[in-house]
Amino acid sequence: MNTAPNPVRYADFYRQSIEHPDAFWAEQAKLIDWHTPPQQILDTSRLPFVRWFAGGTTNLCHNAVDRHLATRAAQPALIAVSTETGSEKTYTYAELHAHVQRAAAVLQALGVTRGDRVLIYMPMIAEAIFAMLACVRIGAIHCVVFGGFASSSLASRIEDAQPKVIISTDAGSRGRRVIPYKPLLDEAIHLSVYKPSAVVLHDRGLVPMELVAGRDHIASTLEAQQQNTQVPCVWLDATEPSYVLYTSGTTGKPKGVQRDTGGYAVALAASMKHIYDCHAGETMFTASDIGWVVGHSYIVYAPLLAGAATVVYEGLPTQGLDGKTNGAIWWSLVEKYKVSIVFTAPTAIRVLKQQDPALLKKHDLSSLRMLFLAGEPLDEPTARWISEGLGVPIIDNYWQTETGWPIIAMANGVERMPSKFGSPGLPAYGYKVKILHEVTGEELTAPNEKGVVVFEGPTPPGFMQTVWRNDERFIYSYWRSFPDRMVYSTFDWGIRDADGYFYILGRSDDVINIAGHRLGTREIEESIAGHPGVAEVAVVGVEDPLKGQVAVGFAIPKDSAAIDDSEVAKKLENEVMHRVAEQIGALARPSRVHFVAALPKTRSGKLLRRAIQAICEHRDPGDLTTIDDVSSLQAIREMMKS
Ligand code: ATP
Ligand code: MG
Repeated sequence: MNTAPNPVRYADFYRQSIEHPDAFWAEQAKLIDWHTPPQQILDTSRLPFVRWFAGGTTNLCHNAVDRHLATRAAQPALIAVSTETGSEKTYTYAELHAHVQRAAAVLQALGVTRGDRVLIYMPMIAEAIFAMLACVRIGAIHCVVFGGFASSSLASRIEDAQPKVIISTDAGSRGRRVIPYKPLLDEAIHLSVYKPSAVVLHDRGLVPMELVAGRDHIASTLEAQQQNTQVPCVWLDATEPSYVLYTSGTTGKPKGVQRDTGGYAVALAASMKHIYDCHAGETMFTASDIGWVVGHSYIVYAPLLAGAATVVYEGLPTQGLDGKTNGAIWWSLVEKYKVSIVFTAPTAIRVLKQQDPALLKKHDLSSLRMLFLAGEPLDEPTARWISEGLGVPIIDNYWQTETGWPIIAMANGVERMPSKFGSPGLPAYGYKVKILHEVTGEELTAPNEKGVVVFEGPTPPGFMQTVWRNDERFIYSYWRSFPDRMVYSTFDWGIRDADGYFYILGRSDDVINIAGHRLGTREIEESIAGHPGVAEVAVVGVEDPLKGQVAVGFAIPKDSAAIDDSEVAKKLENEVMHRVAEQIGALARPSRVHFVAALPKTRSGKLLRRAIQAICEHRDPGDLTTIDDVSSLQAIREMMKS
């Protein structure tokens, strides 16, 4: 980290980005290679649509791979670790280049050209990253769908994206349990009205596959025919799409978020310098999945754009290379690969929190400078626990699939500034973040007033261009929450304190209305999670004839006795309820707190409060195809019956 006094103050840096976006981003654009320089930095002629760096031509793969060959061909680029198959392999930049070129040649041979879509349905293996880079190399638009998503979720994405080719594999694996992908994919293609012309399958040898003649191909066979084919990078206009990624679907029908090429490359390169503070020759370990935006941005593109090495990890956070339980596996990788930046989601830390804290001290973590967490509100107890355990700063960063990189985060690469527990910090450069009254749309400027977090256009580079093939949906989904105001709504609640630090209080639909009082589920969850006997909790509002709604909690206890022994449960429940009443008020006191072994989450680790709520109200929980573990919901259903 930059320890020398930094002459740039963040406040000035930020102001420049807002007041002079052209000059500011023209400067950031120098962080990447351009084939032809941009003709116009910012085009706002069709707001809320924005075009960044129009007229400039570039290529994401060139910037992520080829550009580094001159200076770091022999340095590690990709470190693929799987605790599912017990394998570890490092690819240098030169090796990465060779693999990507071969994968691109295969796509070309199958007739894929600029603008065509390629759907990638893969686990966290190196071949998935080769496939993504191969697409952008030739100007094809990738649509990565989280591996293991059920057929119906996959089918709706195939129909929407209409990929010419689908790249997949025989199977994924979770906790050393093999999950065959091919039958899920076959079923999805069967369900979809649109059919791809070819399917390329990477055979991991985990489970036999049945091939559909004329459609399915084994990747290694196709690659063998392309050993020495040269595939130059296609120079794309900065505004041509690089990918479509569907949102994780916590709140409804997923939207195809369309990203550009030049703006995204610049935004990511800038974020590595100013926010993640990770540089060429270093190693970044983002424990997420390429099916999510964090994976697109910080497993694949950003570290490679920076010339760093990226760790691609397949497996649970608590499983060793030998397949046995190992709560220190991530930290052992930090030691082994001298990782300087780790990035994951709070949900993973809550899993680790159920383990012996001594595991955090088992390995030499001297290379580690910061731990970044994003994806959900980071509660203070979890943040403190991991920060103290690892002895490094925890950097909460708040963003969405739509934005591609943080909206709110501390830009420690610009100026070292103190973080505050519970807050992701200050607006990132380029974002005019505001808090608006949810009904009137009036801007709330007094400290700690709660409203909806929004930002004003023009949106910065990296932000979504539109909803794939649906400009109208882009406008009405995001820009029409407040009549007469052209603001992008995040649909999250937030407050800003007197120092300008933001606090995200959860989704604007996660609100409980108890006897006319509106309470955020997060406030109650924070209070419950602060009890030393609780590892994780979800709070939902449940219909009540008297009060309108009451709060009901579902908590994972640290000691499973609270699940098995009703005496222990009763005692813990009473303590927890008392705590909420003391900290927030009697009104917020949950009517019940149930103790469960697991909570229903999406595959990206987000709590499915809506599904829990529906079950508590004896309603249909809706589409559960993106749920991680249906049994957790079934357990709650059983509980509600009795
Ligand atoms: P969908 O939009 O389909 O309902 P989703 O919103 O869960 O799915 P993502 O784009 O992956 O999909 O998640 C973005 C959301 O995650 C944010 O709007 C916010 O609610 C939450 N979030 C992300 N990072 C943070 C953070 N640091 N603190 C609090 N909440 C966060
Ligand atoms: Mg969302």
